[in-house]
Amino acid sequence: MSGNKTLIMIKPTAVRKGFIGPIMAKISEGGFKIQAMKYMQLTLEQAQAFYAIHKDRPFYGELTEFMSSGPIVAAILVNDNAVEAWRNYIGATNPAEADEGTIRKLYGTSLGENAVHGSDSDENAEIESNFFFSATERF
Ligand code: ATP
Ligand code: MG
Repeated sequence: MSGNKTLIMIKPTAVRKGFIGPIMAKISEGGFKIQAMKYMQLTLEQAQAFYAIHKDRPFYGELTEFMSSGPIVAAILVNDNAVEAWRNYIGATNPAEADEGTIRKLYGTSLGENAVHGSDSDENAEIESNFFFSATERF
């Protein structure tokens, strides 16, 4: 049985380019409901903690510096089979390889600056949701 929640972020480049509104519209069109949402800037230390799972990857420094380089939007989205549904909806990690009409194809800039994040498992959706949101911030 798959969970119905995923943690997503709109990444700094997409925010800088003015894509919060279009991406929020895609969230709504895709049938995802918003349980929690905030606009904030991660410190480098917070980005390092969030992406600790990737700490041995060669792109960890670049990734955490980028993710703390400007404001982001973080949200918990609700849908059937939410983790997989969102990952399918946003497209491949590299926007150049993402299907037409997906969020990363439409609003991504490069492999590193690929517009949005999505949790990769129900377990990580829970961990990542708790990273950003307390119980009183969820509706
Ligand atoms: P995300 O976790 O952001 O939803 P993902 O699950 O599709 O993306 P991961 O393998 O978890 O991809 O990588 C995390 C992020 O690290 C990617 O979204 C991308 O921005 C960045 N990244 C992945 N591979 C590379 C790479 N080879 N070079 C630079 N950045 C990379
Ligand atoms: Mg991932």
